[in-house]
Amino acid sequence: MPRSVIPGCQFASDNTAPICPEAWEAVERANVGCLPSYGNDPWTARACDLIREMFGGPAEVFFVFNGTAANSLALAAMCQSYHAILCHELAHVETDECGAPEFYSNGTKLLLLPGVHAKLEPAGIAHAVERRRDVHYPKPRVVSVTQATELSTVYSIEELAAIGETCRRYGLRLHMDGARFANAAAALGVPPARITRDVGVDVLCLGGTKNGMGVGEALVFFDTNLAEEFAYRCKQAGHLASKMRYLTAPWVGLLQSGGWLANARRANAAAARLETGLRGLPGVEVLGQRQANAVFARLPAALAQSLRAEGWQFYDFIGSGGCRFMCSWATTDAEVDALLADARRLAAA
Ligand SMILES: *Cc1c(COP(=O)(O)O)cnc(C)c1O
Repeated sequence: MPRSVIPGCQFASDNTAPICPEAWEAVERANVGCLPSYGNDPWTARACDLIREMFGGPAEVFFVFNGTAANSLALAAMCQSYHAILCHELAHVETDECGAPEFYSNGTKLLLLPGVHAKLEPAGIAHAVERRRDVHYPKPRVVSVTQATELSTVYSIEELAAIGETCRRYGLRLHMDGARFANAAAALGVPPARITRDVGVDVLCLGGTKNGMGVGEALVFFDTNLAEEFAYRCKQAGHLASKMRYLTAPWVGLLQSGGWLANARRANAAAARLETGLRGLPGVEVLGQRQANAVFARLPAALAQSLRAEGWQFYDFIGSGGCRFMCSWATTDAEVDALLADARRLAAA
C-alpha cells in the first residue's frame, strides 16, 4: 500500500501538491446532473468569461490537459513549419517538452538564446533576427518568454514592454509560457493585463495545475486572429476534453474566489521564508535572484546527500548549478522550518 503522504517530496516540484480547496469545491459543485459535453456547458462559458475579466478585455480562451500541449499547440498556431521560435536556452519548451513544439508545428525550429536569470533580452532577439535573413535559415517568427522564468525570476513590465517593442519592430509574435503566471503576477503585484495584453503578448499559456488545480491549463489568445481553427488543432491533438466542465470548474473556483492569487502569494512567501533560512546556513550559497516560488542554492555535497538520506527530495537543476527547492500553494511554514532545522542540524554534524 502506498503511504497517503510521502514526507519530504513537497520541495521536489509544485506538482507534488494536492488540489486546493477552491478548485476541489468547484468540481463538487459542477458534479451535479447532466450538462452538454465538449465545452458547451455553463462552467466552461463562465471560466472563459472570468479569464477575459482577469485580463480586462476580449480574448479567445481554450483549455487543454497540460502545459506541454498548451505551449506546443500555441506555438504551432503562431508559425509555419519553416519558421523559428526564439526562446531562452533554459526554456521549458526546449528542455522539458521532448520536442513537442517541433512535433506539433511540423518541424518549426527552436533557436536558443542566452540571457542572465533565464530572461531574454531585446538585443539578443534583434541579433538573432539580423544575423541571417537568407532563405537557407529558418525565419524567426515567434519569441517565447517564460513568466515566471525557469530560474524563478520575473520579467518586469518594462522588460516585457521592451521585448514586445522588439517583436513589433521585427514582425515577431510574442508567446508567453505562464505555467507559473500567477506567481509572477503575485511577485510583481500588478494587474495581469499589464504583463500580457498591454506589452503585446499575443498568446498566453496560463497555468492552472501548478496554481492549485489537479489538471489543466488555459490558452489565452489576445490576438484572436491566431485562434482561428484552433479548436480543430486541439481536438486533433487529443486535447479536447469531453467532460469539459471538470477541466473548467476549477478555473471558476480559483478565479471567482481570488484563490489563484492567494495560492501564488503563499507559494512565493514559502520560498522567501526558505531562502532567508538557507542564507543563514554555513556553506550554503543562495543562487540567482529569486522572485517567485523556487529557491536555488549551492549546498555542500555532503549536506545535500544527508538531506536526501533524511527523505527530503529536491532536484539538481540544470543551468543553475545548484539544488532547486520548489514551493507550492500547499507548502506550510512548518514544512519549511522542518527542512531548515534538518539542514541546520546536518550542516553542524
Ligand atoms: C510545469 C511547466 C510547464 C508545463 O508542464 P507539463 O508537465 O506539460 O504540464 C510549462 N512550462 C514551464 C515553465 C513549467 O514549469
